[in-house]
Amino acid sequence: MYQSFIGLEIHIHLLTKTKAFCGCTSEFGAPPNTHICPVCLGYPGVLPAANEEAMRMSYMVAKILHCTLSPKCYFDRKNYFYPDMTKNYQISQFHDPVGRDGYFDIEVEGEHKRVRIHDVHLEEDAGKMIHSGKTSLCDYNRAGTSLLEIVTEPDLVTGKDAEAFIREFRRMVRHLGVCDGNMEEGSLRCDANVSINLQGQGLGTKTEVKNLNSARFVRKALEYEIKRQKRVLTKGEKVIQETRLWDGDNNVTAGMRTKEKAHDYRYFPEPDMPPFCPDDAFMAAVDERMVELPLAKKQRYLNDLKLSLDAAEFLVEDSKFCDLFEAALALESSEPKLVANWLCGDVQGQLKRADVSLEESHISAGRLNELVGLVESGKLLRGKAKEVIELIINDDKDPAVIVKEQGFEQVLDESQIDDWVKQAIDGNPQAVEQIQAGNKKTLSFLVGQVMRFSKGKADPKKATEKLEQALGL
Ligand code: ADP
Ligand code: MG
Ligand code: ZN
Repeated sequence: MYQSFIGLEIHIHLLTKTKAFCGCTSEFGAPPNTHICPVCLGYPGVLPAANEEAMRMSYMVAKILHCTLSPKCYFDRKNYFYPDMTKNYQISQFHDPVGRDGYFDIEVEGEHKRVRIHDVHLEEDAGKMIHSGKTSLCDYNRAGTSLLEIVTEPDLVTGKDAEAFIREFRRMVRHLGVCDGNMEEGSLRCDANVSINLQGQGLGTKTEVKNLNSARFVRKALEYEIKRQKRVLTKGEKVIQETRLWDGDNNVTAGMRTKEKAHDYRYFPEPDMPPFCPDDAFMAAVDERMVELPLAKKQRYLNDLKLSLDAAEFLVEDSKFCDLFEAALALESSEPKLVANWLCGDVQGQLKRADVSLEESHISAGRLNELVGLVESGKLLRGKAKEVIELIINDDKDPAVIVKEQGFEQVLDESQIDDWVKQAIDGNPQAVEQIQAGNKKTLSFLVGQVMRFSKGKADPKKATEKLEQALGL
């Protein structure tokens, strides 16, 4: 029996305004080579300087991952040549990273797993190569942008574990506000290391899979790689330590290069930068920005607030929805379940239809509470509440104002509803005949008629009851 070991190296682009060691903007998508300067291109004589925002975000991540934080972290040069890096070295951290020896908890199919974190270190990204035909072009806008690398211990076992880790990790960095977590655009990248060995024999010879731009691909590539390594060992051959590329079109990994060893990089201390020593004010700023881990939040929503699993999952997926949800509960002692259901139901649905983000819309905690209140007190019917939400998205108005302006109040006048019921029955003798012959389904047609007369403002339940009564059902 074989067992498998998986360790991930995750790179995240920090959402800093400027690059890691110079003042260039780290904005994405500008014309090639417009966000560059002598520092990020490594001209002779320039001096890099650590970006405080990047340092703060790095310590925030290390802290939320329960790492031991470095009181004095150094930068090192990782030396290698590649045309996307004009300096011939990358500023990174090797000997004294921002954080070490942490852990991150994940859930895989309902089971709780703890994954140890080896270290968290800050480095700079390289430029980008654009290959077209026989020509290769270099765009250095990305060169020097802040990249945080998080290295796990080989504690993950299956492709599913790794997928769950990435999804949970991505939620975490989004809640923390340090990375947008977009894997397709490369803001979050993952290299997956995997080995197998006979049970009880410890780690095997690993391969590293690159080019994984979705959590699903990470799982598929690892599942493929574990199977491939098993075939190799079963044949009595040896796994070669190498870097392999995931080929998403053919669902296979293919050998790329045998892995360099750390000493090939000739890491040495960056002589142009002093160590970074966080002081009390810096650490206070880090503490101030700590957030509840999404997984803990989900557990709290389930256990304390009794939300459904779907609602809890939906909210935790997006910190903006969590914030609105919690702000609504803090304002008023609303029923959490109700507020959550509106959020993940019609609010989300209408935002999607209007293609407007929550922040761009005029939905607020107060308005959400007001809407829930109007529905619960019977003043507004669910169907109409949907329309109110649709209007608030673009209109800076309170629900009660919209209800009044649009005349959306539920019609509670019984005699008025009785009139509509009579109208529906008198106007549709054929339907009445069918119903009385036992075709109960036709009743909903008559309910629809009443709703039409009332312009959606009669309670369909009430209309049904009244129709049944009038038809002697
Ligand atoms: P390298 O020097 O090749 O980059 P590291 O020791 O830095 O290797 O580890 C890189 C990643 O590979 C880490 O996430 C680590 O947990 C994982 N890893 C290391 N050795 C193994 C192994 N034998 N099997 C599976 N994963 C491993
Ligand atoms: Mg490594
Ligand atoms: Zn620059």
